[in-house]
Amino acid sequence: MVRKPCPDNPPCPRCGATHVVKNGSKNGRQRWVCRTCNRSFGATFGTPMYRLRNTPTEVARTLLVVMRRGSLSAAEEITGHKHETIGRWLRAAAQHAERAKSQGDGLVCASQRGGVRAPVGLL
Ligand SMILES: [Zn+2]
Repeated sequence: MVRKPCPDNPPCPRCGATHVVKNGSKNGRQRWVCRTCNRSFGATFGTPMYRLRNTPTEVARTLLVVMRRGSLSAAEEITGHKHETIGRWLRAAAQHAERAKSQGDGLVCASQRGGVRAPVGLL
């Protein structure tokens, strides 16, 4: 039996096909498989959140602290994440913002891919 694609499923980030089906979950996060290119992906593929161990909410919260306090060491003290880690998240978010700016709205945000809730603009 062939499963019907669910309208809530995100389009494939690699080929853009909409025939995507759920493909179980890993570490509590939903994964999908594309029926066109047969590649699987998670909600954060192609975003700065890809392969991060912390949740998008935690990363967004930490980056907000950096913006409010204006320093990595203050954010390290408040959030408990190393300043090297926070710096990496910041650079990833900045690169993503630059790419999104130069490509218009061509990039799909993690927050649009189901299950991920974070302030718009960070992801
Ligand atoms: Zn595909």
